[in-house]
Amino acid sequence: MPRTPAATRHRAPISRRHADDTPCTHRKGQDCPGVTSYTATCTCGHWEQRSGIRAAVEEQRAHHLHNR
Ligand SMILES: [Zn+2]
Ligand SMILES: [Zn+2]
Repeated sequence: MPRTPAATRHRAPISRRHADDTPCTHRKGQDCPGVTSYTATCTCGHWEQRSGIRAAVEEQRAHHLHNR
């Protein structure tokens, strides 16, 4: 197996999810049913994270991006 090229991009934007797993694109003041979880999927295709606690996703995300 060849090693992952150094040029592989790692980008993992965090997205908010409703209870039915649809992405939340609501803005303040709009009728949002409520965000129940946060997900992040890295563009490298080898990492994703889901949690009800945004800080937990951010922590794992930072860990992945700094230890790629
Ligand atoms: Zn990655
Ligand atoms: Zn929403």
